Amino acid sequence: MRVLMIAPPGAGKGTQGALIAAHFNIPHIATGELLRDHVARGTALGQAVQAYLDRGELVPDQVVLDMVREAMIAAKAAGGGYVLDGIPRNMAQARAAYKIGLELGMTADVALHLQADDAELTRRLLARAALEHRSDDTPEVIAQRLALYYEVTAPILAWYRDRGILVSVDAMRSAQEVGLEILVALETMRPYLEHGPTRDRLSQDLTSLGTAFGAAGSAASTSE
Ligand code: ADP
Repeated sequence: MRVLMIAPPGAGKGTQGALIAAHFNIPHIATGELLRDHVARGTALGQAVQAYLDRGELVPDQVVLDMVREAMIAAKAAGGGYVLDGIPRNMAQARAAYKIGLELGMTADVALHLQADDAELTRRLLARAALEHRSDDTPEVIAQRLALYYEVTAPILAWYRDRGILVSVDAMRSAQEVGLEILVALETMRPYLEHGPTRDRLSQDLTSLGTAFGAAGSAASTSE
């Protein structure tokens, strides 16, 4: 299973990425975590990227792409599956990640899009700020990260839709409900991924299926 996740800050990429990784026994490659780890350890790379993280800006593409290439090579050795969390964040990264995937024979099977509206995202990030003290979970930096998401990240969704690998889920519900919907969707696709030709895959929009999974919440509609 090879999944990349595209979602605004606060939608639950980290939580759901960890769930997918555990369920399919594949590495969870989270660029934000890798970058924060460098900052915490005070490496040269960490010192170079800290200001970008603090301001809620994207670090230079080449920095994350080098990290991801290395992690993908390790993922290949570990069986070939992966869940990418935090990349791609713009069209250049999407193309570069695709090229790395082609080179290694492991392009993504699924682009998983988590949808939630700004009010809910901001509420979650501010709640997390009280617990975790991430330098970028302040109201100003949250607004900057959301704006950047709509400006440069959301537009790449169309590319995955055209490739026929986009799966959108409504992330306005509890982590358990969202996680269940994701695993059901991925398990449903699994036989096609293993046997079907890539070009026959269809994109699926599962955002309206909330009630089918027992959820009461309404579908988000503002994140694209
Ligand atoms: P969030 O999605 O909540 O913003 P992440 O942990 O994914 O959290 O990212 C935190 C920060 O790390 C981003 O604001 C950005 O500065 C940096 N970052 C993470 N991934 C990338 C990437 N692919 N390209 C550029 N910068 C990135």
